[in-house]
Amino acid sequence: MMSKEKNILEQLQEEKLEIINAGFRTFRVDIKKVLKEEGQRCFGLTDFDKGVVSLDKDMNPQLARETLLHELIHIVLELCGLGGDETTGLVRETLNEDITTLISRSMLLLMNLNPALFRLLNGDD
Ligand SMILES: [Zn+2]
Repeated sequence: MMSKEKNILEQLQEEKLEIINAGFRTFRVDIKKVLKEEGQRCFGLTDFDKGVVSLDKDMNPQLARETLLHELIHIVLELCGLGGDETTGLVRETLNEDITTLISRSMLLLMNLNPALFRLLNGDD
């Protein structure tokens, strides 16, 4: 399906794309050799207090792409007031994780099946 199997994390580093602008704040992209949360290995992590999106360096290209989008969806849900990591009670933290996974995989499905449409949407002529 994917025309290129280049690892998106390597592309981020090559193009020195280390800042994500979320409007209300920026997030620094931190690619870690081994990413852990509370002692547990994980692929991606978004810290809204510190403004850091951490990604594990050791992922295959498809997983890296999904994980980056997954963390971006966390930011999107936060922008929508649905960030489950907050103590608002609006969305349970576990539910937020499920919604993020469902949306990011659905987005990837649409993006992978309609690359020309998304190039247009992205303003790449
Ligand atoms: Zn998540």
